[in-house]
Amino acid sequence: MRVVLLPGDGIGPEIADAARRALAELAPGTEVAEHLFGGAAIRATGDPLPEETLTACRSAVAVLKGPIGDPEFDAADVRPEQGLLRLRSELGVYANLRPSRAPGIDLVIVRELVGGLYYGERGVREDGTVFDTCEYHPDEVERIARRAFELARSRRGALTSVDKANVLETSRMWRRVVREVAADYPDVAVEDMLVDNAAMQLVSAPEQFDVIVTDNMFGDILSDLAAAVTGGLGLAPSASLGDSGPGLFEPVHGSAPDIAGQEIANPAAMLRSTALLLEHALGRHEEAAALEAAVDQALERSPTPDLGGSATTQEFTDTALTALEVARTL
Ligand code: NAD
Repeated sequence: MRVVLLPGDGIGPEIADAARRALAELAPGTEVAEHLFGGAAIRATGDPLPEETLTACRSAVAVLKGPIGDPEFDAADVRPEQGLLRLRSELGVYANLRPSRAPGIDLVIVRELVGGLYYGERGVREDGTVFDTCEYHPDEVERIARRAFELARSRRGALTSVDKANVLETSRMWRRVVREVAADYPDVAVEDMLVDNAAMQLVSAPEQFDVIVTDNMFGDILSDLAAAVTGGLGLAPSASLGDSGPGLFEPVHGSAPDIAGQEIANPAAMLRSTALLLEHALGRHEEAAALEAAVDQALERSPTPDLGGSATTQEFTDTALTALEVARTL
């Protein structure tokens, strides 16, 4: 059992340390192998996703990734984010699960991760026009829809499919395929919602949602919105899963260069991503629930500055791990 840990850039190495400690506590038999990725990998090898890192990821049981990105590379030809898009595509992790919880709110956004606008044809025409294209094959929509229906079935049985069918061809096909898949899930209540309305509803009445399924770009934006209404980016984890092979587990937030090196980053999203890994990749449901509960306690007792507190990253982690130990001895 080997988990590949990619600490990443900015606050990545600071919060990766929290994840390493949690894994050592909750999955002691699991080897954790660290590899270069993102900006750190570009500096060392010129490639954000070196071959050696990709090979290690492919043969691992799961990949736990810190955030990547550095202003140093913003205008460069080779950027950390290119490595991330490639890693997701190479691992075939097409289903990105982004849970958001707060009192009265418990929703999961299922975002299609390896298609759509972020992977379509792009370029510059002779007249200087720049273009990105949004493309989906019905099979890509069907597999993500099935994931979302399965998830909704295991939860409260309500699915909202978000698109822009009043404007986009890809959305009209998306809506048709979701309807076809719905026939296999009569126990799940499904509704379609336009993305602009979904954004407004997420802000004004987020408690109405159970599972939301949507395309790559809409999911990217709406999941940050859902994170913001449930306590902020520092709290939001994600799991990216394919049909086989290792899953990719990572916080939703970026590398936060504005606070990097200060040891004040909130490690909650990284720890919650570790809980998702324990659940989905290692099948350790009890340990995952215990880590979730321990993070909730640390959020109450040792909040970091982004939540109005004064705890350091390490103090937050210490509180969470102590809560874990106490719970395990009861
Ligand atoms: P960001 O998420 O890094 O930061 C946005 C704001 O949230 C900042 O004020 C930051 O301090 C705060 N924040 C984020 N995570 C936090 C945490 N754990 N604790 C406390 N505060 C936290 O977004 P950005 O500034 O737009 O992007 C910075 C870099 O991250 C860019 O290079 C971007 O491309 C990259 N990025 C990477 C990923 C990823 O690796 N999956 C995701 C998003 C952005």
